Amino acid sequence: MARVFNWQLGREMDYPYEEHRPERQWAGVFDINKCIACQTCTIACKTTWTSGAGQEHMFWNNVETKPYGFFPMGYDVRILHALGPQAWNADGTYAGQTIFEAAPSGERLLGWRPEDEDYAHPNLGEDEIKGRIDRGLALAIPHENWMFYLARTCNHCTYPGCLAACPRQSIYKRPEDGVVLVDQSRCRGYQECVRGCPYKKVFFNPHSGVSEKCIGCYPRIEEGQVSACFAACIGKIRIQGWLSRPEAAREDNPIDYLVHIRKLGVPFMPQLGLEPNLYYVPPIHVPDFFLRQMFGPNAAAAAETYRHAREDPTLRGLFCLFGSTDRVLSRFQVTGDTAIGWDDSGTEVIRVPVTEPTIIRPREEPLYQIRRVNTP
Ligand code: SF4
Ligand code: SF4
Repeated sequence: MARVFNWQLGREMDYPYEEHRPERQWAGVFDINKCIACQTCTIACKTTWTSGAGQEHMFWNNVETKPYGFFPMGYDVRILHALGPQAWNADGTYAGQTIFEAAPSGERLLGWRPEDEDYAHPNLGEDEIKGRIDRGLALAIPHENWMFYLARTCNHCTYPGCLAACPRQSIYKRPEDGVVLVDQSRCRGYQECVRGCPYKKVFFNPHSGVSEKCIGCYPRIEEGQVSACFAACIGKIRIQGWLSRPEAAREDNPIDYLVHIRKLGVPFMPQLGLEPNLYYVPPIHVPDFFLRQMFGPNAAAAAETYRHAREDPTLRGLFCLFGSTDRVLSRFQVTGDTAIGWDDSGTEVIRVPVTEPTIIRPREEPLYQIRRVNTP
């Protein structure tokens, strides 16, 4: 095992390979507060990449209802339970073990492989809430009764469990964008990657006999376009871009600003040690203990920042850029009441008003000789 630095843990950790970061890292931020579980992202991915033979059970993008939804069955609670206590120190460093540090003797990581039936109910638990509904709904924050939708794809992790687990070295991370891919000509279908990914975002194809996973829509990325699930998002909950290391964070990079500078975007299960590169603005109505387990020790502070985001002109403007363009944004600026985004070439690709114009039309319109009435 090599010693590598994981900034999400605030410390070094064991990993089977030396630290080798890509030139740029693909990353995204999802605002969970806005997801409506329409599954448009799921279908955009399904129809683009996984509609072939042996791919029936594959959802490279899925949206599950927390706390009772999972795909595959129980993927998160099973690994969290197997890992044991996951404490964080007061200074934000992780005091527990990662899946690499908790590896059983002779193995590279702590993992498990789902059974076929674990993939049988991709939308299990949808809309099921935590709490009692016979006492009405309380408006206090956090809510007594709660649930939220969690959209998930491969995290294109900095320290991928799938890559670490593969005995054939068939999985690699592209240096130009950090996208994690399976080389299907090398894969022999041992499914160690399925076992090794705690997010269960690698799938075995029984028809072709090899493993397959989210490719980050890299042909789109190479053209400066966001991935298909980002482009399709009805709720405009997503923004895609490039994530710098914390010490190199740029104020005008939308992803850096959300993740490193304002610390609004937090990773999913950072304690597992993979340094995942999808970040979530946590739901504001969910109790802190659950947010902490799901998104680490900074989740409650992120939710609190989000509660006041409307009062912050830069954040308010930046959230208007979510889902506003098919281009990958590498720079943004909020000027007055306008949010502007630029792509990699330095071209301005989007300009949106922060305040939507409101027009109040008169009840009587002599010019057209009409009278407007409100319809209930
Ligand atoms: Fe590999 Fe899973 Fe990380 Fe994706 S989420 S890079 S499949 S370990
Ligand atoms: Fe949520 Fe967007 Fe997916 Fe709809 S398309 S389920 S809003 S992430």
